[in-house]
Amino acid sequence: SYRDLRNATDGFSSSNLIGSGIFGTVFKALLPAENKVVAVKVLNLQRRGAMKSFMAECESLKDVRHRNLVKLLTACSSIDFQGNQFRALIYEFMTNGSLDMWLHPEEVEEIRRPSRTLTLLERLGIAIDVASVLDYLHVHCHEAIAHCDIKPSNVLLDDDLTAHVSDFGLARILLKFDQEYFLNQLSSAGVRGTIGYAAPEYGMGGQISTHGDVYSFGILLIEMFSGKRPTNELFGGNFTLCSYIKSALPEQVLDVADEVILHNGLRIGFPIAECLTLVFELGLRCCDESPANRLAMSEAGKELISIRERFF
Ligand code: ADP
Repeated sequence: SYRDLRNATDGFSSSNLIGSGIFGTVFKALLPAENKVVAVKVLNLQRRGAMKSFMAECESLKDVRHRNLVKLLTACSSIDFQGNQFRALIYEFMTNGSLDMWLHPEEVEEIRRPSRTLTLLERLGIAIDVASVLDYLHVHCHEAIAHCDIKPSNVLLDDDLTAHVSDFGLARILLKFDQEYFLNQLSSAGVRGTIGYAAPEYGMGGQISTHGDVYSFGILLIEMFSGKRPTNELFGGNFTLCSYIKSALPEQVLDVADEVILHNGLRIGFPIAECLTLVFELGLRCCDESPANRLAMSEAGKELISIRERFF
């Protein structure tokens, strides 16, 4: 109930605040009955689209189970003490925060900043986890689900850095049509995702499909292994992305070797440029401008596993 959540979050006080997104604010809370630490996302219902995002999240997560999916424990639909509508989503708490914090520690306030960087092997593990859950959502769960907002801040990490994809506020359940999954047009309005990660066709009124997630995954992969956000000068804009990275690739690989990975205890002579080149090439194949030419998530996942086996 509203009262229980208010108590568990100490009156939604700033000391329990984890962060805020477009549609809501996330608090850490202890559920006394279960003695369980949880994350409570309180929806800001003033915000246009917040109720829709609440419904999308409940609908998409209702019947899905996967080890790399954030677990929605329950949803609360109630009235607050002032008689206003109150909506909250309660998730399992992820102790290691979001992947975004790990990739860009310089932007994180000191108390929440990770104490080290991710190793190359850990990065591969996280990418494989995300590929695995996207393959599940796209092909193996009861319906085809497009997440529509894959980016590092929506990848949460637990104690052992296992990745859990979160934030289904933009997710859409798709209809099976002609062996491809496309969005039921009736519910297509207003989905855009995040600039820098959203597939180019989404900016041009194109159909929502699982291929859009593959594009965002490709960007995520390049960001994870280059340390560069897609909105900075490295990537230009969505439309020039592929050609830009292709031309920038050899230099970029060398930069990364020095900058991101070397202090992670790799053996001397580790063929780092070779390993990273394979990862970036895979990222580019996920980012093909034409949706149908992008890899399927199962293929991307398999390739990442084979890269891990080959180098580690
Ligand atoms: P965003 O739009 O930035 O993805 P969210 O509302 O999903 O915003 O989340 C806000 C913040 O709360 C994020 O920084 C995320 O790291 C954190 N967060 C969300 N869910 C959890 C959770 N289950 N466990 C720990 N932290 C979480």
